[in-house]
Order: sequence, then structure tokens, then C-alpha cells
Amino acid sequence: MGDIRKVAVIGSGVMGAGIAAQIANAGLPVRLFDMTKDMAAAAIARLLKTAPAPFMSPDNARHISAHGIDGELAALGDCDWIVEAVVERLDVKQALYAKIADHAGPGAIISSNTSTIRLAELLAKSTPEFRQRFVITHFFNPPRYMRLLEIVQGEASASVAQTIARFADVALGKSIVWCKDRPGFIANRLGCFWSQAAMATAFDMGLTVEEADAVMGKAFGIPKTGVFGLMDLVGIDLIPHVNASLARALPADDLFQKVNVPLPFMDRMIAAGLTGRKGKGGFYRINREMGRRKEAIDLVTGKYRTLNSVMIDGTTPLLEQDTPLGRYARRVWGLVFAYAGLLLGDAADDIAAIDAAMRLGYNWRWGPFELMDRAGDVPGLLRAEGLPVAPVFRDAPFYRDGEALALDGTYHPVRRAEGLVLLADVKRRSSPLLANGSAALWDIGDGVCCFEITTKMNTFDGAVFDLLGQAIDRAIRDFRAMVIGGDGPHTSAGVNLKAVATLIRTEDWSDIEKTVASGQAVLKRLKYCSVPVVGCAHGLALGGGCEMLLHCAAIQAHGEANIGLVECGVGLIPGWGGNGEMMLRTSISARGPMPPVIAAFETIAMAQVSRSAQGARAMGFLRGGDGITMNRDRLLADAKARALLLATHYQPPQPPLFSLPGPSGAVALALQAESLRKLGKASDYDLVVTGALARTLTGGEADAVRPISEQLLLDVERASFMTLVRRPETLARIEHTLETGKPLRN
Ligand code: NAD
Repeated sequence: MGDIRKVAVIGSGVMGAGIAAQIANAGLPVRLFDMTKDMAAAAIARLLKTAPAPFMSPDNARHISAHGIDGELAALGDCDWIVEAVVERLDVKQALYAKIADHAGPGAIISSNTSTIRLAELLAKSTPEFRQRFVITHFFNPPRYMRLLEIVQGEASASVAQTIARFADVALGKSIVWCKDRPGFIANRLGCFWSQAAMATAFDMGLTVEEADAVMGKAFGIPKTGVFGLMDLVGIDLIPHVNASLARALPADDLFQKVNVPLPFMDRMIAAGLTGRKGKGGFYRINREMGRRKEAIDLVTGKYRTLNSVMIDGTTPLLEQDTPLGRYARRVWGLVFAYAGLLLGDAADDIAAIDAAMRLGYNWRWGPFELMDRAGDVPGLLRAEGLPVAPVFRDAPFYRDGEALALDGTYHPVRRAEGLVLLADVKRRSSPLLANGSAALWDIGDGVCCFEITTKMNTFDGAVFDLLGQAIDRAIRDFRAMVIGGDGPHTSAGVNLKAVATLIRTEDWSDIEKTVASGQAVLKRLKYCSVPVVGCAHGLALGGGCEMLLHCAAIQAHGEANIGLVECGVGLIPGWGGNGEMMLRTSISARGPMPPVIAAFETIAMAQVSRSAQGARAMGFLRGGDGITMNRDRLLADAKARALLLATHYQPPQPPLFSLPGPSGAVALALQAESLRKLGKASDYDLVVTGALARTLTGGEADAVRPISEQLLLDVERASFMTLVRRPETLARIEHTLETGKPLRN
């Protein structure tokens, strides 16, 4: 049983279609089955209209073919992996497995996406041969965006489980959590327990939905939907079914049975069609008659009312406060902590698996054991609440120096996929080679150093450029290659707009121009550095963050990277060499000077941002030599490998000469912008900004088509930037964006 080259997904509903799309995103052919071929074809069409988009590029739909199980099952014969994602019914699944066994190729691996049925039950009627190649692969909805994949392996299927885990990790970008064959596996078992406990306790204690969600949300690193908001999203009508099936599958003495009390208020909501966002409203609703006012339901009267804001006293930890919210936090978290302790040895063998499942499957910032390490005396809390204190609770932290506490009281390294390079590990065992308050340089081994930005959202300030300059010197002197990246969520949100606004308000023009010029110079040094530099694109790589990447010898991009030159949105243009670099990327197959100029103009003027690395490739941010990594955790390792590959016989690029159309070209671009304004798609000030952009991209006042040097183009770029930065409309745009996070169309 070797590589996965072709996949079949059976069941083209919400999950099956989403899983098929993610496999197509990885570039593999997928055969998608449903009862009939037409049903599968309709599902493919639906994928193209679903939001958030299941495809990283709409083009990926071509990898999926539609099939019906009525007569087409022979098409399973050439698939290396067959994923079953049909309705959650044991009899239907077992009947299907008998058919799959007849048609699957001899080396094929089969897996089920069941969310509640145990492996042992699924396989009750299967042959030993079938059991050897069967595992549970439990994806979360939506499969493209949720990183968690829970895998349950059988006694005989450990080796096929490894094959699937490796494929799902590297090709599909999933983080694998290994679960034992227990009902609900890990994330949903603890997640349902948490939501049921949080709702039942809120009803019992007479809290409002906003109060419960404030405590069960941001206060503990949980998405701000909290618990009631999450139920609105999931669909309130599903909750009783999910809880009932979990309760049926769990033993009578499981703590879940205690919290799974009836919630008559919720039953009444369901009967009235108040099922959440998909229904007539939920615990929250948007009142369109009242100007889209956000309202919450009163848990006593059942009537909607305006939202109340909830203030949480930040001076003492919530779990220690003698307030209604503090008591609520203790009761719910006491239950959840106690249950997490009981799951150890039952649903999972290690605490890190339980924490990872909650982080990745429910988007919690910390898993329950990580929360407990931050919470203080948890055994004391459990005893005070009259809750069971599982054997894993000792007088010791759950995590210590990257190791996790096991049931036997010893610490073990946290189990994780092989081949990762994480700065966190480097930081534990070494000090930075260089560092200031905004950036650092690390030795990540094998002759590669890593430049890390450490400001908020990795924004640029003078100190970042200072250290980047020093890092380049150090890389040339002591290393074979450099990478730019880190463990954080983003490459960079660009220049620190707050600092720019301050400089503008004080009319410190010479300082601004100096910052622009030094940024230009450092990024050109990056480009011509004698050792290769590979930049990691992940999360946001906007404005200056994008310009930094464009100057690297290569980019290694996470599949979900959002890359863009967004300066026009705040009344500016790229000022650190991004204009020229963008034209070099669009000029590869161009005839004449105008096409690359137009392509760069459209991308920059519209402040286009990629929604995936594949999108970034189509927009020209990524080139042929740049790579895409599907698993965020592998990005730094892949960037390092690419850098080392480039390091052998590396030659930095030759400085280009730009053949640009000059002022007549700028007029053509201005006409294009003017027609957008007539259509209402551009504002008056947009014309000023795009005018400055057009002047830059066409080479300023230089004669038409006369080749101009890179430095001359940088000078034009800087001059255009400086004219915009002095305009009050630009400051208005920057201030508006700082206040609202949105662009101002003045
Ligand atoms: P769904 O109802 O949206 O889709 C099920 C699809 O299977 C339908 O298109 C149906 O026509 C098809 N189907 C039924 N019997 C079939 C058969 N014998 N052969 C071929 N196709 C058949 O369901 P879903 O939400 O996509 O769930 C599918 C599986 O994934 C279930 O086991 C569910 O427990 C699990 N799951 C669901 C979620 C979720 O959030 N919806 C999350 C994780 C796991």
C-alpha cells in the first residue's frame, strides 16, 4: 500500500463534497459518488457557489468527476483511497462496505467520515481482509478550513492509518489527532459536553446569553461566538439529536449523562422555527425592521431585545471572582476540566491530543489542559464543585519544557508529525544571533538562518529594516541561505499605519522619505544578496509584507496565504520597490512595454488580495520557482529545504532594465481609471492615487520605451509616494482604516 494518487469519495453531501474539493485543491483526481450520477454532478455545481469557497481556485473543480453508485461502482477499481461520507446510519454504511469490498482495487484504503459510530461497529460484518485496510477519518466542517482530522485505526490497520495520516498532513494540510475507538472520538465528545454544560448552567443560574457567551468566549480564548452564538451557527435543531446519540453510545455512569439534562426552552425555540442562522432567528438575530439591529433572546420571556454589553472585571482572574459570572465560570469549567481528566485513557492516551483536538476542531486558543495550567488550583476547584478528580490531576503542571504529563506521572515529548521546523523549538534551546525590539535572527541549522519579525501583526518599522540589514550581512558571512518566517499567524500586515499617521500629522516629510528610501535600499540588498533568501507567505502578506516577499529569491507560500499590494486602499502606492518587482513578474511572456504595466496596474490599483496561494499564482505574486505548502506547520521546513536547494551554485539575479511606455502610457491608464469612475467603481481620490501609480509604472517623465534602470524607477516610485503622503485625503483614509479596519472611499 503506497502512494495516494486517485481518490473516491462516496456521498456528495456537505462533508463528502467538501472533502472532495480539498483533495482537488491538492491537485489529485477525485471520483465523487452519490446515489445517482446527477446527484454527484449537482454537488460539484453547488461547491462552486458555496461560501466560504471550498475550492482554492474554481479551476480545481475539473479534478472531480461525478458518478452514481447504481452501476458505476467499477470506477472504484483504480482509486487508492475510498472515503465513505454517506448518511450517519450503521445499516447504510455496512451495506455500502460490502459493495466496496467487491469493487475496490487490491491495494485500496477505505475510510469512513462517521462522526459518532465506532470502528468496531462499522466493521462488525466485515472480513478480516477488509478490516486490515479500514480506518476512520473524521474531518470537520468545512473540510478546507478546519485543520483537524481525527483518525481511529483498527487493530489490524495501523499501517494504512499511517499512509492516510501522512497524505492528509502533507497534501491536504490537516493536523492529525489520533483517537481511541470511543463514541464521538475526542473533539465532539468534549465539545458537546462543554456546550451542553455551558447552556444548561446558564439556564440554571439565570444568566443572559450575552453573559454566558462573554464567559464562554474571549475570556477563555474561545471564538467570540461563545456557546449560544456557536449553536446558532451549527443549527439549534441538530443539538438534541447529537446529544441523544452521544448519550446512547456512552455508558450510564459517564459524566456526560449528568449534564445532558432536557432544555425545554431550546425545544420550544426549535418548535417555533428558531433554529439559528439558517432559521427565523436563534439565540441571536439580526432585526431587519430595526435597521439590522442585533438582538438576543431573553431566556425567561422568549422575546428578543437589544444586545446588552457585558463587562468582565479584568483585575482578578474570572475563575476566582465572587460574582455571578465568576460562579458560572467555575461551575462550567469545573465540569469541563473534570471531564477532560476522565477522557484521558478513555478517548485519548495523551493530554496533548485532547488539547490539539479542541484547538483545531473548535478553534479554542488553548485546550483544556493548557487552560488548567493557566488556571491555578484545579483539583481544589473540582473538589469545591463536588466533581471527580481523575488520576492525572497531580500537584504538577500538565506541560513542562515542551513535554506533557502522562497518566503514570512522567513527562513525555508531545507526539507530533515528523519533519517540522518550528522556531519555538529553536528558541527553547538557543538565543537569537541578532535581536532588537522588532525582529530577531535565529540559527535553524544546516547553514540556514531565519529572520523573524516580532512586532504586532509583524508590521514594519525602522527597527525591522535595521535588523534585516544586519541579518543580510550575517547571512552572507556565516550562512548558506536565509529564510524569512516564524510560527506566528502572519507574514506581515505591512507598514505600521499608526506610525505613518503620526509622521504625517507632524508633517515630518523628510523622515517619511528617509524611511521609504531605506526600505527600498534594504529590500534591494535582500534581492541581490549573495546567498538565497526564501520568504514564507502565510496569513496576511500585505503591502510592505508582500513587497518583502517579492524581493526574495523564492517564496514558499501556505496554501491559504492572503497576498496583496493594498496600499491604494489607504491612499498610497507601494513604496519599497513593489511596483518594479510586480512588473518583472508580469513581463515574462509580454510583447511590448504595455502589457506588464497594465497587469501590474490592475492588481495594485484594485488592491487585489489572493484568497489562496493558487490565487496568488494566478495574480502573479508567485512564480514558477515558488512553492506551495498545504500544511501551515510544514511551511518553515519547506522554506528551509527550498533555500538549501537554491544554495548550491546560487547566483543572485542581474539588475533589470525596464522598457516602459512613459507619459503616453500613463494617459492610457488614466483613461481606464476614468471609465471605472464613470461606472461608479472608483472615487475622485481613487483617480489621484491611481494617477500616481500610473506615473510610476510607466516610468515617470522618462521618454517612451527608453530602458530605465531599477534605481531610476525607485526614484520615481518614491517621488509619487511622497506626493500622495502629503495629501489630506490620504491621512483621512489611513485614519479611517485604523479606526474601522475598513477602507475609506473618499
Ligand atoms: P449529508 O446528508 O449532507 O450527505 C450525505 C450524502 O450521502 C447525501 O448526498 C446522500 O444522497 C448520500 N448517500 C446516502 N446513502 C448513500 C449511499 N448508499 N451511497 C451513496 N450515497 C449515499 O451528510 P453529511 O453531513 O455530509 O455527513 C456525511 C457523514 O459525515 C456522516 O457520517 C456524518 O456523521 C459525518 N460528518 C458530518 C459532519 C457535519 O458537520 N455535517 C462533520 C463530520 C462528520
